[in-house]
Amino acid sequence: MEKGIRISDLLGNEAKWLGKRVIVQGWVKTRRDSKAGVGFIELNDGSSLKGLQVITESGGGEYGAVLAKITTGSAILAEGVVSESPGKGQSIELRAERLHLYGGADPATYPLQKKRHSFEYLRQIGHLRPRTNTIGAAARVRSRLSFAIHQFFQERGFHYIHTPIITASDCEGAGEVFRVTTLDPARPCGEGAEDPYRGDFFAKPAFLTVSGQLQAEIYALALGKVYTFGPTFRAENSNTSRHLAEFWMVEPEMAFHDLDDNLETALAFIKYLAAAALRECPEEVEFFSRFIDPELEKRLHNAAESSFEVITYTEAVDILKKSGEPFEFPVEWGGDLQAEHERYITEKVFGKPVGIVNFPRTLKPFYMRVNEDEKTVAAMDILVPGTGEIIGGSQREERLDVLLEQMRLKGVARDDYRWYIELREFGSAPHSGFGLGFERLVQFVTGIPNIREVIPFPRTPGHAEF
Ligand code: ATP
Ligand code: MN
Repeated sequence: MEKGIRISDLLGNEAKWLGKRVIVQGWVKTRRDSKAGVGFIELNDGSSLKGLQVITESGGGEYGAVLAKITTGSAILAEGVVSESPGKGQSIELRAERLHLYGGADPATYPLQKKRHSFEYLRQIGHLRPRTNTIGAAARVRSRLSFAIHQFFQERGFHYIHTPIITASDCEGAGEVFRVTTLDPARPCGEGAEDPYRGDFFAKPAFLTVSGQLQAEIYALALGKVYTFGPTFRAENSNTSRHLAEFWMVEPEMAFHDLDDNLETALAFIKYLAAAALRECPEEVEFFSRFIDPELEKRLHNAAESSFEVITYTEAVDILKKSGEPFEFPVEWGGDLQAEHERYITEKVFGKPVGIVNFPRTLKPFYMRVNEDEKTVAAMDILVPGTGEIIGGSQREERLDVLLEQMRLKGVARDDYRWYIELREFGSAPHSGFGLGFERLVQFVTGIPNIREVIPFPRTPGHAEF
């Protein structure tokens, strides 16, 4: 007899399992009893969206006693023979000859009912929501895409680099960082002293990283092609459906790559991931297309198979100005593109992923490479329908004199970036990279509208539960 069989294995290899005796273990999704005394349990073990139909017979003794206690939400074991199912909706079922109840769930208080719950409600029960179809499916897609990301880079000769989570360099030079300190805010040690950080753990200001890019650059200028994939933190004080305070970012960094090479890699990456989702998660993609976003499958095929559009920032501004759309935020050359602008371009104008390149120098951080016009930098954003910006990247400034000038213009202190400057003094080389927001990718691939549903435990302003 086979123990520890996963339901996905049974349902995916029906011919192999028919007539075999197996043990399955999981959670009861629904239970229904016919008048004739036959019971139908839908058992889910998390291996797939679909559950296994377990058939029970009314009876006395141990079997009957256990059966009487099995309710929705219970964790059980069922042992029996895999049989052909006469019913609709499944081709095989398990005729349970032995049942074991690991843990029951009182139907009066179990928070997951058979009806559809709102995402807001499910967020409050983050400890139980992975048992729902949508959150469970999102978790499986997330896992599979993580693997596909490593595959993409490893197949292409990139090395996986672990960049630090605690950092003393604030990558963008912007606010929005979380401080890391061992000082007690109630008793700030060293107050009034010359150096308020004297008693602090690192003896200087430290933060949770907002990006691994600068450290990835160090390794790209030694190992050639590298990537990071890890948690990133931004104290974004905005409540949007695509921002988290803690999110995962994928950041490749490549020596001897200019902006065109960077763009090519990013577009191949999106294509690869869309194809991987269609190939590896067909059950989930079909589910999300049916219940969350009817356009999903078409969008994924579009991203996996068709070409992408690439336009300059200046062209994007022209398109937006001529569109006649009543945007909430006005469009002027030199201003940031807002989410509504991004979505208009990728959804309404092109209907596919779009790369936007060469942004105004004043908009972007000091490390982006200055173009010949001296007004723009070699930056790129990639927008996808439904989500908007999914990737931000650039060619990095490798020329020492231009970098120093950029730092001066943007008020970035040289002392804080001594090592970054030295990389331009010793064996500098053209290089590029980008950052993909992993949760935005999962949103793109599932059609789930709010980013809080595609990460197990979302952190947003005022929320750090579980
Ligand atoms: P946005 O304009 O959407 O805030 P950004 O310009 O701040 O994005 P980058 O600094 O370029 O983003 O970061 C690279 C990628 O990381 C973005 O393209 C996006 O996919 C993702 N990202 C950025 N901020 C967040 C966040 N707060 N939560 C989730 N993903 C994020
Ligand atoms: Mn941002």
